[in-house]
Order: sequence, then C-alpha cells, then structure tokens
Amino acid sequence: MQDGAVGATTPVSRGLISDDIINQIRDRVDIADIVGQHVSMTKAGQNLKGCCPFHQDKTPSFTVSPSKQIFHCFGCGAGGNVFTFLIRITGANFPEVVRDLGRKVGIEIEEAAPHVGSQVAQARRVEQVNQAAAVWFKQNLLDERVGASGRLYLGRRGIQQLTIDQFGIGAAPAEWDSLLKALTKQGFSHSDLMAAGLVVARDSGSGFYDRFRGRVMFTINDLHKRVVGFGGRVLDNGTPKYLNSPDTPLFRKGHTLFALDKACEAIVRTKTVIVVEGYFDAIALHQAGISYVVATLGTALTPQHVQVLRRFAGNVVLLFDPDAAGVRAALRGLDLFVNSGLGVKVITLPTGDDPDTFVRKEGPDAFARLEAAAPSLLDYALDHSMKLAEAGSLESRVRSVDNVLRILQKSEHPIEREERMKIVAERLGINQSRLIERYPGLQSQPKKVPVSPGVQTSERTASTVFKGLPEERDLVLLLLHGRLAPADVRRLRPEAFTVAACRKLVELALTHLDRDGRIEVRPLLDEAVDDAVCGLLATELSLREDHFDDTCAHIKACLECLDRKRSEQVLRDLIGRLKTAEQEGRVDEVHLLNVQINEVRRRKAGTPTVDVGSMLKE
Ligand SMILES: [Zn+2]
Repeated sequence: MQDGAVGATTPVSRGLISDDIINQIRDRVDIADIVGQHVSMTKAGQNLKGCCPFHQDKTPSFTVSPSKQIFHCFGCGAGGNVFTFLIRITGANFPEVVRDLGRKVGIEIEEAAPHVGSQVAQARRVEQVNQAAAVWFKQNLLDERVGASGRLYLGRRGIQQLTIDQFGIGAAPAEWDSLLKALTKQGFSHSDLMAAGLVVARDSGSGFYDRFRGRVMFTINDLHKRVVGFGGRVLDNGTPKYLNSPDTPLFRKGHTLFALDKACEAIVRTKTVIVVEGYFDAIALHQAGISYVVATLGTALTPQHVQVLRRFAGNVVLLFDPDAAGVRAALRGLDLFVNSGLGVKVITLPTGDDPDTFVRKEGPDAFARLEAAAPSLLDYALDHSMKLAEAGSLESRVRSVDNVLRILQKSEHPIEREERMKIVAERLGINQSRLIERYPGLQSQPKKVPVSPGVQTSERTASTVFKGLPEERDLVLLLLHGRLAPADVRRLRPEAFTVAACRKLVELALTHLDRDGRIEVRPLLDEAVDDAVCGLLATELSLREDHFDDTCAHIKACLECLDRKRSEQVLRDLIGRLKTAEQEGRVDEVHLLNVQINEVRRRKAGTPTVDVGSMLKE
C-alpha cells in the first residue's frame, strides 16, 4: 500500500524537473518573503495575516505560516505552498515558476531537451525566438536607413526616446523576408519562427515570409518581463492598421494585457487600473506620468482579462470612445463586471479625442480631473439607457432600464444588489418594491451564476464547509499539528474516514512514520500540499488554531467514534447483503453472513451493539 500511495501523489504538471531539485528550491526560499512582495502582511501569533489577493477580501483572511511554509485563505479557500502561490499570482505554470525561483536562489535548471516535445520546451523556444526578434526590431529602429520612417512616425505621435527605450519599441522593415533571414542566420529554424508566429507559410506551400512588414513594433511582455508577443502599427496606408502575434504557447490575446508589467507596481499602489484599447493610448498615458494603465490588444475586455485585473486592483477605470460608446458598450461592461467585486468607473473623452491626443493637448492634470469626476459604470449605463425613454412616461423609463436590471439580477452579493437596486429606483423616481415586483430575482436569493468559467467556484466549495464527521476533521487537524501519539497512529485506518480528502491525507500520513511510529509532519505536509485531493484540506487544517481542553482524551474519543461508525457501516452493509440473500434463498451465503455479522458484533464489544433484529425489520 505504501508504494502505491507514494507513486499516486506525483503531481501532474511537474514537467521534466526532478522532485529533488524542486525540494531544494523550496527549502531555499521563504514563503513569507515571496508573499510579502505581493501582499501586505502583519504578524498574528506564529503566522502572518493579510488581505487575500485572490478574492475581494475585507477582513484579513489570508494566512501564511513561515514555520510550515504554506498559505491558506479562510475566505475563498485558496491554499498551498510557495509554488502554488506564485502560479496563482503570476499566471505562470509550474515549471516556469520553479525555474524562476531556482534562478533567484542559484539553482539553474537545465533546459529540457527539445525533442521531448513537451509544451514547456516549446514555450521556452518561443521565448528565445521572441527575445531575439525584439532585439532585432529595436536595432532596426536605430538604423539610419531602415528606421527612418518609423522614427518619423513616432516623432509625429509625440513619443519620446526615453519611452521608446522603456517600451522596447522597434521597427519591421518593409521587405518580405528580412526577419526570416536575420533570425535564421542566428540559428533559429523555420519551425521555431512559425511557432512564434513571426513568419507565415506561403500559400504556394513552399517557403515562408515575415508576418510583420513596414510596421512600428511593440513588444508585449508578461509579468516576468519575458517577450511573449508583438503588435505592429502599419507605417503606410496598408491594412490591417494594427496586427498582433497569433496565439502561441506563450501568448493568448484574450488573456494578455499590454503594459501590465510596467503598470503593475502603480496599480497595486493606487489599487486602480485604467484600461484602454490601443498601444499608443497606453504608452501616451505612461509617458504623461499616469502609469497604472494597461491596454487590451485592440480587442474588447474578456472575462479572463477581468480575472487578471482582480489580482492587482480594486477599482477599474474604463475609457469609452465617445462615438462608439453608449448603451451597448455599457451593458457589455456591466455584464462582464457584475460579480467581479471590482468598482468600475467610466471616462468618456470629448468627441474626436482619444487618450493619446487628449493627454498631449490637455495634460495629465486634465485627465486626472476627468477620472475623479467619472461616473460609475452603473450610473453610466442608466444614463444612457434612460436617454432612450420617452419624456415623462414612467412606464417607458422603467422599460428602458430593463436590460440593466436583468444584469443586476445576476449579482451574487446581496448587499451590492441592494445598493444597486436603490440607485436604480432613485434614478427612476419610483419605489424599490415596484422594481422587485417586476424583477423578483432582485430580492430573493438569485440562482448561482458562476463569476466566469474557471477556478473560483470549485475552490470556494472546497473549503470552509466541511462535509464529514467533526471527529474526522479534528483527528486530521491534530494529526497535522503533530499531536498524535504512536498508539493513536496505530489506530488510524484510512477506510474509517468518510471524506475523500481526509482518507487520502491519512493514507499519506501512514507513509511518513518515523522509527517510533510517530508521523513526521513537515515532510507529510510538503507532500500533502501538492496533492490534488487533500492539498486544500491540509493547508486549511494546518493553519487553524483550534483549542481542545484535553487533547489526549479528545483524540481517544474521536478514534472511538470513527471505529464505532465504521463498524456500524460494515454491519449495515452485511445486513443488507443478508436480507438480499434470504430473499433469494441462498442458504449457504445466509449462514456465512450470519457468522460474519456475529464476529463484527463481538469485535464491537465494549461499545453499544447494534440490534441486528431491529435493523432487519427496517
Ligand atoms: Zn481568498
């Protein structure tokens, strides 16, 4: 059993990095330092506490234990070790996080052999190609001849040299194969360049050509400052005006936000993020000193973008284009953010302006005034919806906000729902109860609508509500706190635990016995935290500080209770089978089952016996 249990716990996505290296890296870092770079923590007894970066946390529910090197949020149920934390906060995958941390503590991880064909190796290769391409684009812009038109264009748009350096802006020449030639000379293969989306296969089927030609080039970085993709603005009247890298193992357009790497610090500091749609809008605002700005890559915001924003900011400022804006954009935004927990405001710029032209003409202070005076997204949506109503008609006014109310019904947070309903009622000049008549969903507990397809819901249910017996929970808790004596450990039987996570944890615990028959808690915890079945239970119960008056007595009582319940369950099963056997007249089996039942009852001696006769009658 021991061998099987150990083998079964190897996590899925460890890539090609050995457990030994992973453990070495983990032992050299302190989770408190790493978390401290992202969350402001204060000391609370042996632990550190802060507001959870993974959910909208009003009371500090996020707990870190320096001695156990784990974290757990008692609000949303997130938990794990230093790797889990970094994966969630940076969005990187396991091998990336390990490699990154390894570099910091002086453990270099050898590159995976490319022929292994793993995603990790491919992503790493794309990263290298991108890096080389970014350098090449930058050199082009500096080149007297090749970069002339790009420099002229950037100058016309008021982009300063310092900004060009900061953002790594470059240029792609107007030829068909300059990049292809230059990077092949550096040793990259055609398939590498294809994988990175930098070249496109010719329709004829033979050969490739450069995707980006005659464009000013923007480098798109992730939070580790890795170049994940590119965007290019055409320099003549060609189309499309803007072109992005296609999706690659490193780059997904619907998830990525331009300039997040440069904005991150300011976003965390101000708890606010401004979202614009274009590269130049973001760059112009940064250049004007407004640095909590990110851009979508010419697309509308997606639920995945919202997830990313929630990690860093509490407030979002959207910029609506005055021409295209109005009801549809507002409703879309309202729907997107309804359960995000984020406060959302809307800035509308004067007609004919975009952030780039506005901030250059009017200056950053004027922009700050616009931001301060910006209405909430809900107010904005109401304003624009009610403009469509006939003057004077109440019914028409109510009808005009139909779509807004339909979205508000999805709001999962009762207080927020209440506040928003109040705003709508006030704006319409009617009683709240009339709104509820029309939209019963606004009052009653609404149907559960997931925030967005993703991790959230399952993680929430994974914690706080423990579905098993309180005795098994307490036993696992005391086990994780190292309170079980060898005699107690000998009485542990995984099958007596009704909750899968508890059962798994006890199974793991029994593989971590020292010579005296005690459970070695630290190695157990290190292993359990990584386990898909019992990881969250392990972090939660490890960090609980429950107090028991007489721990020894409580442990004995819990063990006895579990034994008794287990025997009762076995007995019930046997009796069920006995009933069936009797009904079907299988005499031999009836005899055998009776013997087994008597044996179980004898073993239960000392604890109250279950009356087999009375159970049979049920
Ligand atoms: Zn949380």
